[in-house]
Amino acid sequence: MAEKRVGVIGFPVEHSLSPIMHNAAFAALGLRDWLYDAMSIPPDILRLGLREPMQHGYVGINVTVPHKEAIMQFVRPDDTAKAIGAVNTIDFRTGIGANTDADGLLKDLAANGVEIADARVLVLGAGGAARAAVYGLARAGATVAIVNRTMKRARRLVKQLQDTAGIRGLQVMTLDEAASWGMSLIVNCTSVGLHPHITQSPWIVGLPFPTEVTVYDMVYRPANTALMQQCVAHGGRAIGGLGMLARQGAIAFELWTGLEPPIAVMMDALRSVLENKGEAKGEG
Ligand code: NAP
Repeated sequence: MAEKRVGVIGFPVEHSLSPIMHNAAFAALGLRDWLYDAMSIPPDILRLGLREPMQHGYVGINVTVPHKEAIMQFVRPDDTAKAIGAVNTIDFRTGIGANTDADGLLKDLAANGVEIADARVLVLGAGGAARAAVYGLARAGATVAIVNRTMKRARRLVKQLQDTAGIRGLQVMTLDEAASWGMSLIVNCTSVGLHPHITQSPWIVGLPFPTEVTVYDMVYRPANTALMQQCVAHGGRAIGGLGMLARQGAIAFELWTGLEPPIAVMMDALRSVLENKGEAKGEG
């Protein structure tokens, strides 16, 4: 029986890759008393469901869809989580809720040598992942514009980040306007192109694709999305979202264990499970 437990709550949660990633990291560091598992908790019993891991002595948990926002009322969100309006990592020892998505993205961009300070960055999407991205990118010194199918939601995001984090200068534009805005980086935070809809792209067909930009696609199933293919076809560089997934998990790992996370092991674990599913190549 493992003595130190962590895990992820969500609904559904069976598809989560976090147990594989974290358990591979524990094994690589010889942490035999640590175990990461997945707990399915329906939204209507979230408060009660949260007691389970707490009463069973869990060190902390990750929180995934659809609980990231609702969980905020049951923990003490840190400043980043407050600004983003969502918690994805809890440390039960302190009761603090964190959001590691923004730092996960920034760390992966840095690991890939992508400069953010003073860059023009176009964010596609206005959901939870986009809020984290816009927050992180703006704080890192980028000029950020947002394009979303539902413009009202993009405007709400801008107002929220202004109110909660004092972030100013964010722009909302149409994709047509964005095409000639002159950004160096596009970050896709929509779910468009996600398996199994692998031929779909948030950059609509017929609209000229900017040349020589970098695309960071948060979608990691498949590994090479339709948007990434469009980018490369126009002389750009494309990076998939697997690294962000590993790095946001690595931040939680470090928070719970106090140890340096074995990032390469975590990436390899994710890659191999996706390759086994045939999804990393966009199959199936
Ligand atoms: P969400 O809150 O549900 O937001 C979804 C976004 O996608 C919204 O902006 C939505 O636009 C847009 N969208 C959905 N279908 C669309 C369509 N057919 N055409 C145009 N836009 C469409 O989801 P989320 O939590 O932000 O996650 C977004 C994506 O990021 C997911 O694929 C998720 O797996 C991925 N993600 C990856 C990581 C990572 O570590 N790599 C981390 C977090 C999230 P509307 O507002 O108009 O509905």
